Amino acid sequence: MSEPVVVVGAGPAGLMLACELAMRDVPAVLVDIHPTQRAEAPAMAINAGTLEMLDQRGLAAGLREGTVTFPEVRFADLRLAFEKVQGPREPTHMVLQSRLEKVLIDRAVELGVDLRWATRLTGFEEAADGSGVTVTLASDAGEEQLRCRYLVGCDGRESIVRKQAGIDYVGDDWVIVRGIVGDVAINREDVAPEQYGLSYTDNGDQFLGAPLSPDVMRVFSAEFSTEPPEFEDGPATLEQLGDAVKRLTGKELKATEAHWLQHYSIVTRNAEQYRKGRVFIAGDAAHVHYPYNGQGLGTAIGDAVNLGWKIAAEVHGWAPADLLDSYHVERHLAGRLACMNIQAQLALLYPRPLARYMREMMGEFLKFDEVNVFLAEIVTNLGPAVPIAYEGVPEPVEGDRLLGRRLPKVQIKTADGDMGVAETLQSGRGVLLDLSGDASAQEESGWPTASTWSAPKPGTDLPGTLLLRPDGCVAWHDGGGWGQDELRTALRTWFGAPTG
Ligand SMILES: Cc1cc2nc3c(=O)[nH]c(=O)nc-3n(C[C@H](O)[C@H](O)[C@H](O)COP(=O)(O)OP(=O)(O)OC[C@H]3O[C@@H](n4cnc5c(N)ncnc54)[C@H](O)[C@@H]3O)c2cc1C
Repeated sequence: MSEPVVVVGAGPAGLMLACELAMRDVPAVLVDIHPTQRAEAPAMAINAGTLEMLDQRGLAAGLREGTVTFPEVRFADLRLAFEKVQGPREPTHMVLQSRLEKVLIDRAVELGVDLRWATRLTGFEEAADGSGVTVTLASDAGEEQLRCRYLVGCDGRESIVRKQAGIDYVGDDWVIVRGIVGDVAINREDVAPEQYGLSYTDNGDQFLGAPLSPDVMRVFSAEFSTEPPEFEDGPATLEQLGDAVKRLTGKELKATEAHWLQHYSIVTRNAEQYRKGRVFIAGDAAHVHYPYNGQGLGTAIGDAVNLGWKIAAEVHGWAPADLLDSYHVERHLAGRLACMNIQAQLALLYPRPLARYMREMMGEFLKFDEVNVFLAEIVTNLGPAVPIAYEGVPEPVEGDRLLGRRLPKVQIKTADGDMGVAETLQSGRGVLLDLSGDASAQEESGWPTASTWSAPKPGTDLPGTLLLRPDGCVAWHDGGGWGQDELRTALRTWFGAPTG
């Protein structure tokens, strides 16, 4: 076996990345401290962008089954006109992180990822000649040194990979929000109506009670004004939860048992570099912020989908210059915008009485469609757009809504049958999507890394032909003044020299 890529952390980022590598025949070793899949995964909101990325790999369909959807997309609890985003798009779904992780674990195993539970990365060293990285892994069997081509730290916000690589985790030191998250046993008839759904106190503190089954409820409290030591990260008791719920809803929570309960506290950080030599970081290891609008999972999955095909291109020897470096450029921007918009939302939420005028002002701004669309795209991980620019090529029409983004969820008719546009990406290759009806794009078939799909134009205003990178990002289209020359430039930029 050729040297593998070692991925540290079997959370959403690490699992998705391992799948992205393995689907492209890159051997991947995925290690995690936990003895098996953890129950205590806190997330439960999966937004439109995350679902689209999962759809591109055929992983989302089962996740939608039996879920409820959030009726609105909100920014700091102000309604956004999500319908104004170029669509169709779908709402945020309530899906437990543990359910997403199970889907990804099953897929990783199916693809042959070497998944090693109860294994901790304790250190690593990059070869002086830059040819690889040797990692030290500790498990019950002892310590093992393993040489790999690349090391990717998806090991959460306390990332040892980031720390040992000497990458700064830049942000605010103050802890803005503390709270308790977990699952508790309940008798439905004992739960007060105000303890279901998301509620805010007059001050802006929050409580969410979400029934997971007739007798289990996911609880999430968020208090801006609490202080340690009571709220240090770590296990929480039913009594501490009870006190928090009383403060937030004014009523006792009659939970009979805690399945798991944890204190959490949130700082805001974005790593200065997402790559150092052969070492990368992704997910919370690269950026962390208060969980809002499903952006934690969205940015984690977004990093993995952005990085996987680029590492694979290097391993298989067809990566154009700078492809791997584009990971930092594109994803650091996404991390920065996630941290920024969430900090801004928190400032608009707390303390509510002081934020009142800013909220009113924001309400006025939201009457402008462009503001609405920008925010709605960012908070649902439909944005930010990847900055797509080619040297010596003038930008296409101003205000382009497609370049650098994923396509909306449109259905197309292909020779292989009716499918969502995301399905054309399931092989993991780029896609030249010819909706023109005249098969003109077929001429550019010298790039085996991009497959060509032809279909009559669906009833939308999409351009005639589009080039999608393997992560779904539109890298070229002919709707804004770019033609075949620019298409060839785009193909070379992302897929290297033609081989056909
Ligand atoms: C209270 C709370 C609620 C949240 N709710 C939402 C939500 O509704 N929607 C949303 O999108 N996001 C939410 N988030 C954020 C979301 O949970 C995270 O963004 C997401 O888990 C990040 O995934 P990750 O894979 O980067 O890291 P993690 O999920 O932190 O996974 C890191 C993994 O690395 C492993 N690891 C660490 N160190 C090592 C080592 N040295 N060796 C081996 N393994 C190691 C850990 O065991 C862990 O499994 C929430 C977060 C919190 C705290």
